[in-house]
Amino acid sequence: MELFNQKVKPSELEKGDHVYTWRKKIYTHHGIFIGEGKLIHLVNPKADGSRKKEKSPCPTSDCGLEKVAGSGVRVTCIDCFIKKGSLYRFKYEASREFLVAKLRGGTCTTARSDPPEEVIHRATYLLENGYIEYDLINNNCEDFALYCKTGLWSKDIGYSQANMVHSTKKEAIIENYVGFPRSCLKRENKDLGEQ
Ligand SMILES: [Zn+2]
Repeated sequence: MELFNQKVKPSELEKGDHVYTWRKKIYTHHGIFIGEGKLIHLVNPKADGSRKKEKSPCPTSDCGLEKVAGSGVRVTCIDCFIKKGSLYRFKYEASREFLVAKLRGGTCTTARSDPPEEVIHRATYLLENGYIEYDLINNNCEDFALYCKTGLWSKDIGYSQANMVHSTKKEAIIENYVGFPRSCLKRENKDLGEQ
């Protein structure tokens, strides 16, 4: 029996973890934990501009740093990533039963994660060199984190996260995204109910 609770404390994070947090109870924001209290994540560079002004100053010197201007790939401290929310660990190699119980998608996948050093290498590489353009449907923060974890791209596919891969992992990931985003609120209630 797998544990359903994916909520984690910052102190419990391990390097290479894919984590997410709920924003406005509507959507999840995803990132990769790289150690030393920091995450690498993809933001929408356009939407981010207006929010930045409201932010309170963060004492972490490189928090919010974007090495390639306009790429949307940022390194951020945990506090700024979760804001006032909680932190959840995205689950890899979830069983079919687990997927069904979580109402599929957005919080877990049956796909396998690569070793943490590879995950961190990809995230760091994309921070240093930039990333293909952010797109809410085709290429969002979750796609970014999934790519860092598995090395699988969505690039030559026209539709959504459901079609992101062509490999033996494809079916698992497609199945995992069926129902997105209609089940989003339900999924959040499940997460919150498990605190
Ligand atoms: Zn910060």
